[in-house]
Amino acid sequence: MTQQGLHPVHLPLGLGEHGRTDAEDTGITPILNNENVTLKTSAQAVVLHTNPSGLEIKAVEAKIGEQSYLFLGDVVVLACGAVNSAALLLRSANEKHPNGLANRSGQVGRNLMKQLLSVVVQLTSTANSGTFSRTLGLNDFYWGDKDFSYPLGHVQNSGGIFQDVIFAEAPPILSALSKVMPNFGLRQLATHSIGWWLKTEDLPNVNNRVHYVGDKLRVDYTPNNVEAHDRLVYRWVDVLKDVEVNQPTIFNRTTHPRSDMPIQVMAHQCGTCRFGENPETAVLNLDCRTHDVHNLYVVDSSFFPAHASVSPGLTVIANALRVGDHLMNQLNR
Ligand SMILES: Cc1cc2nc3c(=O)[nH]c(=O)nc-3n(C[C@H](O)[C@H](O)[C@H](O)COP(=O)(O)OP(=O)(O)OC[C@H]3O[C@@H](n4cnc5c(N)ncnc54)[C@H](O)[C@@H]3O)c2cc1C
Repeated sequence: MTQQGLHPVHLPLGLGEHGRTDAEDTGITPILNNENVTLKTSAQAVVLHTNPSGLEIKAVEAKIGEQSYLFLGDVVVLACGAVNSAALLLRSANEKHPNGLANRSGQVGRNLMKQLLSVVVQLTSTANSGTFSRTLGLNDFYWGDKDFSYPLGHVQNSGGIFQDVIFAEAPPILSALSKVMPNFGLRQLATHSIGWWLKTEDLPNVNNRVHYVGDKLRVDYTPNNVEAHDRLVYRWVDVLKDVEVNQPTIFNRTTHPRSDMPIQVMAHQCGTCRFGENPETAVLNLDCRTHDVHNLYVVDSSFFPAHASVSPGLTVIANALRVGDHLMNQLNR
């Protein structure tokens, strides 16, 4: 790849005891010994109740098992993820907030983004274990390409097919491969292939949204920015073919099956309570506090006003730390 003038880089990875770190390892478990922390698991926030003026949250109603509880607090922070935070605000509509809580702008639930994500599979003649982490990324096409001046996106290798989330999509990919190579079993195909994730930002669109129809939560989503993504896929296949010309041991240079992530894959959801200075067009202010309800914050991927072409996790975390500092300052006043 470097011979083609590309700049592959090692991916920053959080490796914990179980091969990967997560919010439980690094955030929740370490604080549970503090006396002022109580963790309630299997609790579903069902509705938020405001005071009569509608300017403050008075209580969070949650279900734990079959029991309903009311939790009271001076500050309420939602972090249910982009789909579920918006859903909670929408179903908390009341007299003062007839279109959903904190929804003066009409933007709650709208501008849902989830990235355009594809996997391209490359065959290798050397076997791998099928269980390894992602290691390599490329941003050479992030801002465009020689004949296209708009951003295309980011490329990274997937983890091994038996370990990465690609596993969810692996059977269709592998069954496509097995048609091309009928003598191979699925396991053999899995251990003789490398996946490549290709990610392109989708753009905020008010018609892409989560909303309620009666009591059913509905997702409306039409992909946009598809041309940029297709260009990224075809460009990447050309890169792979060029690499393979110099690799005599790679045995099938013409087959690079592609699988696009369908609507069901919402892993990179964001944007449903975007932040901004103008209360007429944004749900949250720049501190991620709702413009309309003074003690209510939304601190998850909902705040994104636009997506990126990289995975959203680190941005979600960085923003949560930033808002955390802001809240500490407020509470210490
Ligand atoms: C399989 C998979 C792999 C991923 N891999 C990567 C990766 O490698 N790198 C990366 O950057 N990003 C990755 N992502 C995306 C990343 O996990 C998300 O962007 C990030 O977790 C979003 O954070 P969040 O706080 O918005 O929501 P979440 O992390 O989804 O947290 C929301 C939490 O709220 C809870 N919840 C929902 N509704 C309610 C309710 N009503 N009451 C109480 N609790 C509720 C949920 O159970 C959940 O625990 C991946 C996502 C998936 C699904």
